[in-house]
Amino acid sequence: MTNEGKTALKYFLYLASDYLKDGHARVHKADEPAEEAGLPLAYMVEEESEELEEINEETAIDENGEGDSLAWVAAEVDVCKACGLADMRKHTVPGEGSINPLVMVIGEGPGADEDSTGRPFVGRAGQLLDKMLESIGLVRSKNCYIANMVKCRPPGNRNPEAAEISACYHFLERQILLLKPVLILCAGRVAAQNLLKTSTGISALRGQFAEFKIGELVIPVLPTYHPSAILRDETLKRPAWEDLKLLKSRLAEMNLL
Ligand code: URA
Ligand code: SF4
Repeated sequence: MTNEGKTALKYFLYLASDYLKDGHARVHKADEPAEEAGLPLAYMVEEESEELEEINEETAIDENGEGDSLAWVAAEVDVCKACGLADMRKHTVPGEGSINPLVMVIGEGPGADEDSTGRPFVGRAGQLLDKMLESIGLVRSKNCYIANMVKCRPPGNRNPEAAEISACYHFLERQILLLKPVLILCAGRVAAQNLLKTSTGISALRGQFAEFKIGELVIPVLPTYHPSAILRDETLKRPAWEDLKLLKSRLAEMNLL
């Protein structure tokens, strides 16, 4: 079976178990019709089977998100058609890294290289991001998780639109809740403004910690320049380096780095 087939089957079983629980096994956006949430309505079952009962047990997600997993988020992203970006993607790019990260890096959205591979930050900007992280002792696969505001590529690398960001936002929230990163590093204006719900520019946001609150969690967020912007404008290197040092010192204060 192809990977796509496997994902579709997994998602079918998942949605079937959700359906058998009257649609309450899964984390939903409140009162959102399935169609608007991009959920394939064709995925419906008539009868409960033993196999589905077992899957039910395994996949139950309560209202606090208990039972949710990064794999489910990725499986849902994989079939999501909640915004127009779905039609243009080659691959979805849900995110990757440590499941217990010190730092969650949040970028804007996949570019061409990410769209081709299904992996976040693998192009030129991604290579710079890796170097930036390594310069303060972080390694993406070991102690970071890398994700984006939107999980599908905006065409021609344009910025994701507000409607696309809001359609995709619940995936990011679930990832944050699951990962509980110690700190969040926002790469660039789009991620910083949308996560912190502000219209302040990136040059004023960067260089100081803000807070992201979700449920019981309060996570310090450090906005910095996007590596693509640094590649375009050398003068941003120094302030970005200052930001990285600030990130490192916060982790060091907690004896985590
Ligand atoms: N730029 C982003 O914001 N995210 C990626 O994944 C790649 C480039
Ligand atoms: Fe769904 Fe997000 Fe992709 Fe839009 S960008 S189709 S909301 S996964």
